[in-house]
Amino acid sequence: MKPVPAYAPLLTRYETMPYARTGKSGLLLPRLALGLWQNFGDVDLYPTGRSTVLRAFDLGITHFDLANNYGPPPGTAESNFGRMLRSDLAPFRDELIIATKAGYRMWPGPYGDLGSRKYLLASLDQSLKRMGLDYVDIFYSHRPDPATPLEETMGALAHAVRSGKALYVGLSNYSPEQTTRAAAILRDLGTPCLIHQFCAHMFNRGPETSLLPVLKDEGIGGIVFSPLAQGLLTTRYLNGVPADSRVGRGAESTKWIQLTDARIAQVRALHELAQKGGRSVAQLAIHWLMRHDTVTSVLIGASSPAQLNENAQGIESYQLTAEELAEIEKILASS
Ligand code: NDP
Repeated sequence: MKPVPAYAPLLTRYETMPYARTGKSGLLLPRLALGLWQNFGDVDLYPTGRSTVLRAFDLGITHFDLANNYGPPPGTAESNFGRMLRSDLAPFRDELIIATKAGYRMWPGPYGDLGSRKYLLASLDQSLKRMGLDYVDIFYSHRPDPATPLEETMGALAHAVRSGKALYVGLSNYSPEQTTRAAAILRDLGTPCLIHQFCAHMFNRGPETSLLPVLKDEGIGGIVFSPLAQGLLTTRYLNGVPADSRVGRGAESTKWIQLTDARIAQVRALHELAQKGGRSVAQLAIHWLMRHDTVTSVLIGASSPAQLNENAQGIESYQLTAEELAEIEKILASS
């Protein structure tokens, strides 16, 4: 007798989420994607992670973003996601776009970091094993390696596709100039760059004018990470630092969160503006990024299904009015 699947996805899952073409490719991605950088490691509660991932799929979020080093400990986000695939999502593999990356320190010695062919391809094999997959949909170079020829790093990405272990390739944290060079090499290798993953949010606007024009010219899709500034652009920190928040838990990455009085005052003003338009401040921050055509997808994190519910609500009518956009400019200029 066939085992009964533990999870049956909602039949309505494709009714509200908008999908966009990734650059000039044929691949459609959900405008909202879920990343497993934090909250899905062995230090976290597996049942909460599982219900968050399954809730995402029920909301039409078909794209899950991982990397070899996500956890903590490194590797455990992939092994936990692999467990969810086995128990719940395996029947829906063809409805999923699963990404992983290599580029940061993963194992000791000279071959466990950066951008050599040796590291990238060994790491991809390890990621596939941890997730129990034959292939990933997108394999990224997680960061540029100044000491390895770009041709070697791009050659490793192209090889991953040729060997059937990845369908598409992407770049992350590459500067506009590095992106142009890398895209040319990948084009010559017959494996066009699908996507570029970079950090942008209301308090980090540099990429809007530096990177996005390059992505448009190159026909590469953009996916924005940490769009909520790791939680700052939500109501999380409006009344102090909750013990269960990313800052409260003392996550190392929170050294990048600008938890100053001036920032909180801006978030409060954004929150008030969002409320007037019937949105939450998190929705405002997401919809604001979605106004760029080149931003295919906004890649959020979540520590609970409730956060996902909030962030995905109203995604189908994301357009902000000219008045809202002008008001946001005023608030952002007030720092
Ligand atoms: P976000 O800016 O979306 O921050 C997510 C955090 O914000 C959540 O974990 C939660 O924090 C808080 N939050 C989210 N929604 C709400 C809400 N509605 N109300 C209150 N708090 C909320 O993104 P991340 O920084 O998590 O990054 C997202 C993904 O981007 C990563 O998982 C990864 O896939 C990718 N990434 C890629 C990088 C790269 O170098 N390529 C680098 C960093 C991220 P709390 O825990 O406090 O509840």
